[in-house]
Amino acid sequence: MGLIDFMIEIHRLYKKYDINDRRAIIAVIDGEMIIPDNSFVVIRGESGSGKSTLLNLLGGLVRPTEGDIIVNGKNLRMLSENELADFRNYEIGFIFQNYNLIPHLTAKDNIIFSLLFKKWKKNKAKTRALELLEDFGMLERAHSKSSIMSGGEQQRVAIARAIAHDPAVILADEPTGNLDSRNSEEVLEIFQELHREQKKTIIMVSHSDSVSRYATLRFVLKDGKLSKESI
Ligand code: ADP
Repeated sequence: MGLIDFMIEIHRLYKKYDINDRRAIIAVIDGEMIIPDNSFVVIRGESGSGKSTLLNLLGGLVRPTEGDIIVNGKNLRMLSENELADFRNYEIGFIFQNYNLIPHLTAKDNIIFSLLFKKWKKNKAKTRALELLEDFGMLERAHSKSSIMSGGEQQRVAIARAIAHDPAVILADEPTGNLDSRNSEEVLEIFQELHREQKKTIIMVSHSDSVSRYATLRFVLKDGKLSKESI
């Protein structure tokens, strides 16, 4: 192991999409991206610049056409489909703009369901769900269906669900995109706490620059060119 532990390393990354008969190759990253452990990374870029593609590649949701992605010591290219599924399930926490909760389940059950899927025992999953809801000031909402909760409440439950299994890396795709400024601020503070106190590595993509405040590393993605911004 070197002096600095790198959580993520990418050297040139391409993704080819087949759109009808047309083939588009997107240079997701033409240079390199190296992220030390316990970073809070914000990647900005306009719509269509490749931010979601990059997050999907980092989280093992899609495979690159070209290029290597090393996350937490694993070269994702070398993993079988089953190993990649395990990587997604156990090592990554995903957070989306639209929260992606199961609407007819309560806040508590959304978290429990996700943990049962990861083979947790029911009692342990229940204890963990309630502990997280309490941490996020959501205990009184534990038995509310997610469909009746506000956006800010849903995103807090979604973050609780994403970190419940203690993943090494949190990938967040426009997590404040549907929230007003007060709720955005609360969500960003939760991310900051996860970074500072729980030492998580967070990669957040956004088209807005107001989310960059807490970042320890900032990048701008434009036409497949990733440039580092100074803090
Ligand atoms: P962003 O998240 O920054 O808006 P995306 O990663 O969604 O950017 O998209 C980058 C480019 O790849 C866009 O030109 C988009 O049209 C294209 N693209 C993304 N996903 C697909 C797909 N599943 N099929 C075809 N093209 C896609």
